[in-house]
Amino acid sequence: MATPPVKKIACIGAGYVGGPTMAVIALNSPDIEVVVVDINEERIKAWNSETLPIYEPGLDEVVKAARGRNLFFSTDTKKHVGEADIVFVSVNTPTKTTGIGAGKAADLTYWEGAARLIASVSTSSKIVVEKSTVPVKTAEAIGKVLKRNCSDPSVNFEILSNPEFLAEGTAIEDLQKPDRVLIGGVDTPSGQAAVAALKWVYNHWIPVERILTANLWSAELAKLTANAFLAQRISSINSISALCEASGANVQQVAHAIGTDTRIGNKFLSASVGFGGSCFQKDILNLCYVCETLGLREVADYWHAVVTMNDYQKQRFVERVIGSMFNTVSNKKIAIFGFAFKKDTGDTRETPAIDVCKGLVRDNAKVAVYDPKVTSEQIFRDMSTPKFEWDRPDYSRSHTRLLDNVQVCATPESAAEGAHAICVLTEWDCFKHYDYAAIYEKMTKPAFIFDGRNVLDHDKLREIGFITYALGKPLDP
Ligand code: NAD
Repeated sequence: MATPPVKKIACIGAGYVGGPTMAVIALNSPDIEVVVVDINEERIKAWNSETLPIYEPGLDEVVKAARGRNLFFSTDTKKHVGEADIVFVSVNTPTKTTGIGAGKAADLTYWEGAARLIASVSTSSKIVVEKSTVPVKTAEAIGKVLKRNCSDPSVNFEILSNPEFLAEGTAIEDLQKPDRVLIGGVDTPSGQAAVAALKWVYNHWIPVERILTANLWSAELAKLTANAFLAQRISSINSISALCEASGANVQQVAHAIGTDTRIGNKFLSASVGFGGSCFQKDILNLCYVCETLGLREVADYWHAVVTMNDYQKQRFVERVIGSMFNTVSNKKIAIFGFAFKKDTGDTRETPAIDVCKGLVRDNAKVAVYDPKVTSEQIFRDMSTPKFEWDRPDYSRSHTRLLDNVQVCATPESAAEGAHAICVLTEWDCFKHYDYAAIYEKMTKPAFIFDGRNVLDHDKLREIGFITYALGKPLDP
């Protein structure tokens, strides 16, 4: 079993978590060789190139500083996993799409595949670290897969849970200066030695008081709980935004008033068109599924309301747009400013923009999308992928029409030219600074702006001539 110093780390999965996390470990730990492996050859090629496969502020600099020194990206999974003292597993754990638990349970296919691979190539004992977000008790199942598939009985696997709390868009900052690092392990001498080894790695740049330890199940559950709480806050303020619009209150004033209460705090209180990203929805659904399987129906229902509220907010936004535009958007061009699920990332997984655009196009609108970091391939792929196949048997017939009504634009001006409305769906800073007077001139009148992120100066926009909608604020007279 690896005891400090750890010489080699391998990470299975070179995605949004595996890539940046390992880059930061390598940057801060020049005495450790760090190799990120993936089955996706294109992704590895991109990690080894000048154009990294993901956009994240500060990532280029970190990778450039460590790559080739002690940071490597490779498709030779067997070799590097076999040689490593510590193997992080950072594969995707999406929601199951078929069979029992479809639409809720975590699909652990990739995790199980990674565990089988580790077992098959291990000739020395290893620490296996759960970096992916997994249901509570996954370590128990993975332990069985590891033990039963390794031909050498002298090899010991110590499993740790080390969930990742980074947020896309601020990943490097979060990794360099985390609020905390959480390590869960079993309370045996070898379990605690494994915890100490991982602590030693993080202590290269993170003070010990920020490295928390817990039992395995608490650490696994803490990640699902963290995401459930964060998403709950967004759904809570979004629910209040609907009430504000109905009552004449202003959600930003309400948020400011409650956020100054130190018991509540002021973070994560911005009303929006809804949360997105690959994690919040899937992790809450996963939490609900775990509750259901443990007979905790009421607890599952409680958390499921967070997702229901999020779907309602997206639907409400679409209805607001269509309702404001005289109940029809048929054949009207609508410019979409922002497709990423949040600013400073090119990630579009579960972005609310997908549901909003689909909702508008189903009403026969023609959407013209502009996003500074999202590619047209991503947008067409997202718009042509059914959300839940079992929900929409008519999808393959209707999606051809959907795509006919989607255009991707290289500039905001071209997206807005001739448009009847602009919908702001991502809070990119650049959206605040456009010349809206010039944009207004080229739009069809009356010209509407629906601000799904409350980032624009609506007084100014109204002066220009726009009819505006700011989420959770009194409507235009
Ligand atoms: P991702 O899809 O970007 O990356 C996962 C990678 O794993 C893919 O490149 C895939 O090819 C690779 N992979 C799958 N099976 C493999 C195998 N057997 N061998 C080698 N490579 C394999 O996913 P992500 O966004 O990086 O998320 C990874 C995990 O981290 C998920 O469980 C997620 O819930 C969790 N997480 C994500 C975030 C986030 O902000 N994205 C934050 C915290 C935690």
